[in-house]
Amino acid sequence: MSAVSDVTPHPDRALRYAVVGMGATGVGVFVALVRSLAATGRAADAEIHIFETKERLGAGVAYSTPHDCHLLNMRAGTMSVHPDDPTHFVRWLAERVDAAGASTEADYVPRRLFAAYLQEFFEEALAQARQHGTKVITHKSVVSDCREDARGMHLIAGLDHFVFDYSFLCLGDLPSTEYLEFTKVPTYIHSMWHGAGLEVIDPDTTVGILGTSLTAVDALLQLRASGHRGAITCFSRRRSLPKVQGPRVRYTLRHVTAENLRLLTADHTRKLEFAEVAALFQSELEDGLGLAVDWERVLAEPSAMFTATLAKDIELAENSQTLWYSILDATSEVIPHVWRAMSAEARAAFMNNHLSVWSMFRHCMPLDNARRLLTMATEGAFQVTSGLTSVAYDDERQLFRIEAAPVGGERTVYDVDYLVNATGTGFALERSDSSLIQNMLMRGDISPHPLGGIDVGFEDMRVVRRDGSLSGRALYIGPLTRGVHFYTNSFETNLANAHSAVATVMARIGAA
Ligand SMILES: Cc1cc2nc3c(=O)[nH]c(=O)nc-3n(C[C@H](O)[C@H](O)[C@H](O)COP(=O)(O)OP(=O)(O)OC[C@H]3O[C@@H](n4cnc5c(N)ncnc54)[C@H](O)[C@@H]3O)c2cc1C
Repeated sequence: MSAVSDVTPHPDRALRYAVVGMGATGVGVFVALVRSLAATGRAADAEIHIFETKERLGAGVAYSTPHDCHLLNMRAGTMSVHPDDPTHFVRWLAERVDAAGASTEADYVPRRLFAAYLQEFFEEALAQARQHGTKVITHKSVVSDCREDARGMHLIAGLDHFVFDYSFLCLGDLPSTEYLEFTKVPTYIHSMWHGAGLEVIDPDTTVGILGTSLTAVDALLQLRASGHRGAITCFSRRRSLPKVQGPRVRYTLRHVTAENLRLLTADHTRKLEFAEVAALFQSELEDGLGLAVDWERVLAEPSAMFTATLAKDIELAENSQTLWYSILDATSEVIPHVWRAMSAEARAAFMNNHLSVWSMFRHCMPLDNARRLLTMATEGAFQVTSGLTSVAYDDERQLFRIEAAPVGGERTVYDVDYLVNATGTGFALERSDSSLIQNMLMRGDISPHPLGGIDVGFEDMRVVRRDGSLSGRALYIGPLTRGVHFYTNSFETNLANAHSAVATVMARIGAA
């Protein structure tokens, strides 16, 4: 990153802001913007335009699902929109949803409730904006381009052209950029969360699910709830089902701390190699658990006995033998800084060789979901296989042919009627179906991060252009900044980054 763009806001007229995408992150940006404008006496001189393709503002992709089997993968006590008031969501649930106050901090509630919570948070901020004289205009349209010049940020939405001083781009969990070759096949479901999803699947057909992460768990539970009767197989390259979350206990980090990072990096003057970071986490876990961990066993390829493993994981969670989860959870805040301190090679090594196992432990499933899955697995309703090697579509037989060769197992070919892509967010920008991403990428107004997604400034969220300069007016916040911030598949990281983005803009306005 080198030169900073030389654009400055116009001091003689109302400033115009665009927020593109109104999922959880867009809401975070909007609320922070409304409050900051009010706090700095700029509210009456501001105009905020919101662009969102969905009817509902605030729900986004993750929380739009109407199905009760799709739970938040974090406890209610960790999902507050007010970081300084962690029980806010739990109180909201008690007031709005269960008057008896049945929800506790430890509960995993349906994601649709979180959407309603976000929507209310958004509406409160909207009322506050109007009260302070800020003009807010919402557009139900897709933004297809965003280009910066000396006049401002030019945004194209449908046939309309707007000019803004600043654009906050919060495009969220864009569909997978893998297996695009099947998107024309009617029995292929590229994303559960976009379009008709799993509803098109005939209950007596065979289904293949690509992936074994939390999205795959969502797919299994939804198929179960809809009365699916055909065989289901989940395929992964090397990971197995997510582990099971036990009770969360307060844990104070001893090794993975900001102070240790400072010492190891000689006051942030050197980068850490993979082995150094691995050693730091190993010490934290072994020290915290009070035992020597057999890392080879923990990191081994998944066994074919997934039902037995799931049963064992449930037992451990039920007996509070999951302290490792509380230890990993305690690292959330420091993780983006650890990530930033790692060398490019160390980060690439982690992404290529360890991300899948990390995700199995870090993004593990609620106990309720695990119990439902165990019932399904015991009844033989689904199976899991690793060692996925190829996927093809047989036009003549109208079947998908999937080949898997798990370590220590036989190479097997599976024929399935329907194929569901549960591999998650698409990080390969050049293959993204977003015309906004494509247009900005083509002109070099954004640049791909070497580890996937979009490159932005770590602290200020300004997009990095192809020439390495930072945009003066475009900021990107959300899951696609994973290469920079790592832990962007969590609401709390994206909310914190939304605040940082707004602070960046406020500082620029203040300095103008
Ligand atoms: C299935 C799933 C479950 C998850 N569960 C949890 C959880 O339990 N807890 C947790 O902390 N995190 C969870 N996450 C992580 C989640 O990604 C973040 O927590 C956060 O919700 C991301 O919000 P977002 O606004 O960035 O993205 P999104 O929710 O994807 O919202 C982006 C919005 O932008 C709109 N948009 C995109 N492009 C354009 C355009 N060109 N023009 C106009 N509008 C556009 C989209 O329509 C969408 O509404 C989950 C993610 C997924 C995919």
